[in-house]
Amino acid sequence: MDFGFTPEQEMLKKTVHEFAEKEIAPKTDWMDETGEVPMDIIEKMAKLGFMGVLVPKEYGGLGMGHVERMILLEEIGRLSPAMSNTVQVHHLGISPIAAFGSEEQKEKWLPPLAKGEKIATLAVTEPAGGSDVLGMQTTAKLEGDNYVINGRKCFITNTHIAGVSGIVAKTGEGAKGLSAFVIESDTPGFRPGRKENKFGLRGCNTGELIFENCRVPKENRLAKEGDGLKIALASISNVGRPGITAGALGIVGRCLEEAAKYSKQRVLYGKPISDLQAIQWHIADIYMDYEISKLLTYRAAWLRDRGERCDADNAMAKFWATEAAVRCAQKTMSVFGAYGGMKELVPQRLLRDAWLFIWGAGTSEIMRIIMARQALKMG
Ligand SMILES: Cc1cc2nc3c(=O)[nH]c(=O)nc-3n(C[C@H](O)[C@H](O)[C@H](O)COP(=O)(O)OP(=O)(O)OC[C@H]3O[C@@H](n4cnc5c(N)ncnc54)[C@H](O)[C@@H]3O)c2cc1C
Repeated sequence: MDFGFTPEQEMLKKTVHEFAEKEIAPKTDWMDETGEVPMDIIEKMAKLGFMGVLVPKEYGGLGMGHVERMILLEEIGRLSPAMSNTVQVHHLGISPIAAFGSEEQKEKWLPPLAKGEKIATLAVTEPAGGSDVLGMQTTAKLEGDNYVINGRKCFITNTHIAGVSGIVAKTGEGAKGLSAFVIESDTPGFRPGRKENKFGLRGCNTGELIFENCRVPKENRLAKEGDGLKIALASISNVGRPGITAGALGIVGRCLEEAAKYSKQRVLYGKPISDLQAIQWHIADIYMDYEISKLLTYRAAWLRDRGERCDADNAMAKFWATEAAVRCAQKTMSVFGAYGGMKELVPQRLLRDAWLFIWGAGTSEIMRIIMARQALKMG
């Protein structure tokens, strides 16, 4: 067993850490205030290859693994969970093309996405179908050489900045009645709808996608008709869920740093509050949550890099890290006292950001269902 990073992974961590401190940290208040995505930072990350971390080198990416992706997203998430989510959903949008696209489709879409010239998303959720994927109502009907798509997606990340959107729509009924398509932003009949005004992850764009007689060439369908559910579930489990997990791990690590630092600075009764046992318990709990979340996050990524199926591991890591992020942000606010509720200080933002991570890529209840399927095989 080896729990350490390689020298190359340590170097990546250092590079991303320094980039995030220099470029992202100065923008986080503006992002929280305005809710806008700082596209200039995305351009800088693109130059460093962050947008194409998983994409094979022959398509213009860095060709790195899932462990490296977790390092990248944890370090970004430590300072800006919102930016971490923007980047991770871009990777999520790329993943169905990389895993299920034909050679022609990969050559067309992967290079501009890997270089960050275009931003991606993956749109599955609908007003009638979040946890209940099969409840979706968007339809794709084959007419000649085109599919005609009608419907609406909601709570989708990157809607207003994406140039390439992966979507899943109904081409029939039941589990084999969904198909996946790639849609470019200038396709007639396709447009972003409302922009959501979230209470957390501000500066990460969430919104609707609307399809009104949107005609998509049948060459834009990924894999076979009826493969949509398989494509959506694999992409969410292997890329979307770990992406959120790494951002949440960033929050937990930041809570540890902030709570430990503040407790040594705040003096009460003539001593730093870090001397109070009750405060030490909060910090010990955060420390424990960080170590557990880290082990689960990186172990799941390591399993994936070995090519192993790890849906339950990804669900466990996502459940633990996101629930821990909420718990630890609350504990950090306790350590800060009333300062914890002030907008100028970070704990209240970490709590708001953490809550959104619990819902994204499947709620905690859905994570338990996935884990239970695996657990029940063990008796
Ligand atoms: C920040 C953010 C970003 C997102 N980005 C994307 C994106 O890029 N693409 C995308 O497609 N979607 C995205 N989503 C949507 C996300 O995937 C859904 O919010 C999620 O799947 C839950 O769906 P829902 O919100 O409709 O809740 P619902 O499905 O309506 O669930 C409501 C409640 O019922 C519970 N519940 C549902 N089913 C069960 C069950 N079988 N057993 C027990 N309890 C159950 C849920 O846990 C929840 O508590 C994003 C969401 C957020 C918050």
